[in-house]
Amino acid sequence: MSFPGSVYSLLFCYICAMHAVILKRRIGNRVENGHPWIFANEIDQTDEAIRPGDIVSVFTPEKKFVGKGYFNPRSQITVRLLTRNEKEEIDDQFFHHRIEAAWTYRKKIGYTENCRLVYGEADALPALIIDKFNDHFVLQTLALGMDRWKSAIVNALTALFQTHKIYERNDVPVRELEGLAQQKGFLSAPFDTNILIRENGLKFGVDLENGQKTGYFLDQQDNRRAIRHIVKDAEVLGAFCYTGTFEIHAAHYGAKSVLGLDISENAILQAKRNAELNGLSHKMEFQAVNAFDVLKQWSRETKKYDVVMLDPPAFTKSRNNIHKALSGYKEINLRGMKLLRNGGFLVTSSCTGLVSPEQFLEMIRSAAKDAGKKLRQVVFNSQSPDHPIIRELENTGYLKFLIVEVSG
Ligand code: SAH
Repeated sequence: MSFPGSVYSLLFCYICAMHAVILKRRIGNRVENGHPWIFANEIDQTDEAIRPGDIVSVFTPEKKFVGKGYFNPRSQITVRLLTRNEKEEIDDQFFHHRIEAAWTYRKKIGYTENCRLVYGEADALPALIIDKFNDHFVLQTLALGMDRWKSAIVNALTALFQTHKIYERNDVPVRELEGLAQQKGFLSAPFDTNILIRENGLKFGVDLENGQKTGYFLDQQDNRRAIRHIVKDAEVLGAFCYTGTFEIHAAHYGAKSVLGLDISENAILQAKRNAELNGLSHKMEFQAVNAFDVLKQWSRETKKYDVVMLDPPAFTKSRNNIHKALSGYKEINLRGMKLLRNGGFLVTSSCTGLVSPEQFLEMIRSAAKDAGKKLRQVVFNSQSPDHPIIRELENTGYLKFLIVEVSG
């Protein structure tokens, strides 16, 4: 697979003074339509001098320029393109400009304090995630070629936001596919990683160091507001509550009582602190339990709620397990429906990217049928727009968020 000694190929590389990757065939529709990934089996030849993580230029067999990106022979996604512009240099300034553009876009669509500042491919920065929590920044570099530019990214954040609070949450298994170690820590001088953020007029403590993912789930921020009307005077059950964000919104929006469940003791402790921070503890309770067991048990008893909220973690990252994931979703949603009083509301989410919106809705329909319930849709939504969805990039849309009235 390396560039052979053919005089033409060597001459070509020499003239261009670059690392070249030649595709097997003309560029496929996926890449042509903007997708930045080039898989190992699409590559014919690579320049011998290329080292893992290097910037390469990709060409068709006819030597037509496709784009520039970073290279990792160890990954199935061997090249991730950063630009389609042959003249654009990939240097520190490049990262500065891309991050600046991502922030300009977030401001345009209404973000001021907290947002996903960079959402990987959707911001033309493949495998880079940056969450902004006011003046704190948490980043993930999920591919070797992006990891190489960490200091350029840190410099850009420092220059653009005058921040000295940057933390790395690279403690994620996906990095191992790239030959990268899992790690977390400060990318700036140390600071207090237990921070306070505001969302929808409420306060939430966030643990940037030990919280899940980057510490807080920004993708549901609009959806948390969507429960505003349906929780008034309601008895609410929230399963998979993490630090109680949906539940605290429910209490704030006028719920009579709210019970939140999560398997993580740490999350439950933080949820209790968050309830207190907002002066809502008097009508809130949180329990560290396995929600699957509890939903199963309670749905057989006579317990009833006016609103049941479900926000489980992703059930699968592999196409082979979609069927299993869907039956897991069906089980908890069916039990959730059974726990509702007639005319109550089910608030249900799925963050499994591989489950399409259609599959999710079909699963809900089938759960309602088995539970003998009728549904009326109130809201069907996705992730908040600081996680932009680009239709040509199939992995960018992942969240399904549904509110239905459940009767019968
Ligand atoms: N609703 C939250 C996010 C939930 S993330 C928010 O908006 O911030 C999913 C949560 O499910 C995690 O907190 C995880 O600890 C929890 N979880 C995973 N398995 C669980 C189980 N079996 N029972 C209860 N909670 C579980």
